Amino acid sequence: MRQSKLFTKVLKEKPRDEESLNAELLLRGGFAYKNSAGVFTYLPLGWRVIQKISNIIREEMNAIGGEELLMPALVEKKYLDVSGRWDVPVGFEAKVKNETKASFVLGWTHEEVLTDIVSKYINSYRDLPFAAYQIQTKFRNEPRAKSGLLRGREFIMKDLYSFHADEEDFHKYYDMAAEAYHRVFKRCGLKTYYTLAAGGDFTANYTHEFQVLSSVGEDTIFVCLTCGHAENKEISKLKNGDNCPKCGEKVREEKAIEVGNIFPLGTKYSKSFNLQFLDAEGKRRDVIMGSYGIGVSRLMGTIVEVSHDKYGIIWPETLAPFKVHLIALLGKEDDETLALSEKSYAELQKNGVEVLYDDRNDMSAGEKFAEADLIGMPYRVVISARNGDKLEVKTRAEEISKVVSLSEFLKELG
Ligand code: ATP
Ligand code: MG
Repeated sequence: MRQSKLFTKVLKEKPRDEESLNAELLLRGGFAYKNSAGVFTYLPLGWRVIQKISNIIREEMNAIGGEELLMPALVEKKYLDVSGRWDVPVGFEAKVKNETKASFVLGWTHEEVLTDIVSKYINSYRDLPFAAYQIQTKFRNEPRAKSGLLRGREFIMKDLYSFHADEEDFHKYYDMAAEAYHRVFKRCGLKTYYTLAAGGDFTANYTHEFQVLSSVGEDTIFVCLTCGHAENKEISKLKNGDNCPKCGEKVREEKAIEVGNIFPLGTKYSKSFNLQFLDAEGKRRDVIMGSYGIGVSRLMGTIVEVSHDKYGIIWPETLAPFKVHLIALLGKEDDETLALSEKSYAELQKNGVEVLYDDRNDMSAGEKFAEADLIGMPYRVVISARNGDKLEVKTRAEEISKVVSLSEFLKELG
């Protein structure tokens, strides 16, 4: 992508009234645009990050047998009437303009919708188990929408639901899903703690959250940094400095961001939607369910919160919108630099490397470098008269610089 063509621009100034760092950096860098409190547009650069996160999630959900689908965002009242969740205040009601009463809600979760669908297809124990997921926009009236992408009123979530004949099969899947979650977050460059948490109104009395330590997190957890054991303060009997119930080392009280959450649902929804199957003996039984969420857009905000320096964002290679930020420092009538820049751009792309090419000729080197640091691609490659026919390569994370030829650089990227 030629930066001269990118319609978004890096903003020189800090956006006004922006309290959260992730929003400040994402807005300044041209990754996101704030339309309303808690409502964002993902601009071209940010959308590439969201797509990369989504694709990692897809690969890992497919690997545990998840089948992708897409459910409607408009959820009719009749579904939430069945489960008794129509009046939950988190929902934005959606009504036709001249009607006095809403008959839809903008979907804030999809247990009801999917359980209804599944009840039309499942009859026998042979139809089980299976799991289905979607990556979709969710809507929740969050009164504290002040944390940028961490808490949107409209946000992107991956929600997977699993369906089982018995508890044992459910537990096996639950553990497998937890492993898949660990892989997702690791691939996104995040260290997460598998945290025991409260189970809300569901039949099981626990859930698990995937928490990332960060001072801006809204959750408080007790965590053992030695063995990784973690409990949400909401349910924990631990105090700061207590011995870890697993390994005996000291636990610490820490703020954390919940990036994912997995829930045993038991038979709550299968009972309300009459989702039953005939077991091998021909007896009718309720399907056991689980639900598994990841905050896709929250994840993007979380990366920015935990991976930045005073100059800007430091994207992990797996999520960066472009791997290479190629910067041409074009002097007046400097045809050689221009030619090498164009050639490098073409060759990198030919080798399948994603490149953002700063081909603009109306900016100083200092301005270009400041922008590159702010938007944080993993490799900054400078081409200028100073380096002759060589490329000056600097990694954003470790700030290792070297001067190499184009072919050496291509080899290094592999
Ligand atoms: P929280 O406790 O943060 O309010 P939740 O427990 O209500 O979230 P779930 O319903 O389990 O969240 O949703 C699954 C995932 O979606 C969460 O783990 C979180 O990462 C993400 N998420 C939830 N609410 C929001 C939001 N308002 N904005 C962005 N992401 C969210
Ligand atoms: Mg939660």
